[in-house]
Parts: sequence; C-alpha cells; structure tokens
Amino acid sequence: MGRLFVISLEGSIYSCKHCRTHLALSDDIISKTFHCKHGKAYLFDNVVNVTVGEREERLMITGMHTVVDIFCVGCGSIVGWKYEAAHEKSQKYKEGKFILERFKVLGPDGSNYLSGQEALVGGSDADEV
Ligand SMILES: [Zn+2]
Repeated sequence: MGRLFVISLEGSIYSCKHCRTHLALSDDIISKTFHCKHGKAYLFDNVVNVTVGEREERLMITGMHTVVDIFCVGCGSIVGWKYEAAHEKSQKYKEGKFILERFKVLGPDGSNYLSGQEALVGGSDADEV
C-alpha cells in the first residue's frame, strides 16, 4: 500500500538530490539560460515523478505568468515549477513546460550544484535572462 509508482528514465538523468528519484532527461532540456533565486534553472519539455501545487500568478522578469510549483513524489521537496500560462505573447512557448532549479537536482554525472557558484542575475524570482 501507499507506494508511489515511480517512472525510471534511461539516459542522461536529472534526479532529486535528496532521494535520487528520476525527474528529467538532458535530452528534454529546452534552455539552460533561466535563473532562479538559487542560481541556474533549466527549462524542460517534460518532467516526471512530480506533483503540482496550487496555481498562482507570479511576476517574473519577462512578465506575468500562471505557474504551479512542482514537488518530487519521492520526498516531497520542491524542485521547480511549471508554466501553466504566460500572459505575454512572446513567452507563450513556456506554457506547459517545466523549470527545474539546478540547485535542487543532481546532474547526469551525479554532480551537485553549489549555490552561489555563479553570479546571480535578476531579482528574487526566477526567469529567463
Ligand atoms: Zn526527492
């Protein structure tokens, strides 16, 4: 009872740094030029093994977006967010796409990302630069 069904990925995998649950493949990265308050964030076409939080409006560098936070199903920690809707036409490509905060996940080679390793850009919230 109660054991969550967890999808296993094959290839270059980004996984939860706390419980190693697979989250996404490097093949699904759309952009690595996003930033969040912990540093780098990547935009993914697809992310697995996450649950979503409440929808909210969030003002980012590139305008207002409707987003939901995404949480690892293995340990419940927040790993990023999903764009439900973009209000600016030029940002529509992000709709239905996922952000994983690099600081929250392990890379394909098992590497961790140290917060503050690179200069932070932008404000307290996350977005493309
Ligand atoms: Zn986890």
